[in-house]
Amino acid sequence: MTFKDLIGQKQVKQLLTESIQTGRIGHAYMFCGPDGIGRRTMARCFAETLTCSANAAEPCGTCEACVLNANSTNPDLLVIQKQDGKATIGVEEVRLVQDEISTAPQFGRYKVIIFENAEKLTVQAQNALLKTLEEPPPYIVMILISSNNLQILDTVKSRSVKVDFKRYTDKEILEAYGRVKKDGNVDDKLLCEYADGIIGRALSMANTGEQEEICRAVANGMLALSRGGGRALCEFQKIMADYAEKKELLFFTVYSVLRDAAMYAGYGGSVAMQNINETHTICRLSEAIGYHKAMKAIEYVGKAWRMAGQNVNYKLMADSLTIRIQEVFHG
Ligand SMILES: [Zn+2]
Repeated sequence: MTFKDLIGQKQVKQLLTESIQTGRIGHAYMFCGPDGIGRRTMARCFAETLTCSANAAEPCGTCEACVLNANSTNPDLLVIQKQDGKATIGVEEVRLVQDEISTAPQFGRYKVIIFENAEKLTVQAQNALLKTLEEPPPYIVMILISSNNLQILDTVKSRSVKVDFKRYTDKEILEAYGRVKKDGNVDDKLLCEYADGIIGRALSMANTGEQEEICRAVANGMLALSRGGGRALCEFQKIMADYAEKKELLFFTVYSVLRDAAMYAGYGGSVAMQNINETHTICRLSEAIGYHKAMKAIEYVGKAWRMAGQNVNYKLMADSLTIRIQEVFHG
């Protein structure tokens, strides 16, 4: 992975490549931006360049460090993550890092430590980290990846180079999607709306398996809702709960299935469907509810989604949305 391979984030790439070329590398960087904006990939790319023995503007790809980087086994590149089941990164994890920091890199000029979810570092952990940031050995570079700067101590921030990741343009989103899924049958406008400038969302759409699974559940669940009954209601509420972790993709899919149903009701087979794998189910849904009910349900989905951004209880919101949709279908 080299900077050239990465789409967009021109300013970030420029800042990092210039610091490599001039040899003015900071001891700590803070990569800021929402999840899915490409901070991890960029951090990886920067770290692989810094740890390569060639000391060039791009990783050479052939030295021992590069080979180990490809397998994520380079001792000079450490990635610290939140452990499964834990809510925070504690002081113990930072102590481990400090042991590593005391030894020089084995291959290149630098040893890089990436902290994923740096906002999850406890205050004690950050204070422990601060000791290292105050007097770092010359070969240490830390990259703190954070999506919530409010959780980072000012003392840590002031010792880090802040790198802001900007939202991608629609053109870049489409380019990224096209690279991953060449035969993608996707409505460009809809994709950009869903991605909202966040490249990871476009890529998760291209990662077909997951979206197809959600789409099948949503299309079948909605067809059952159109037939009515308490059981269908409970089942759809369960789908909404099962995919709560993926709520963005879930909501987008609910929206796009309803949109397909509306378009089919309005224009028949002449309109290309977004969810091609569920065409059969969506046609039956469309025949059951018709254009206006589908559009009305879309309105409620939009309202619920806006509420989801305002810290409301997800389950309550999802349950009441399901009831609303069924009411609309049977109104
Ligand atoms: Zn190399």
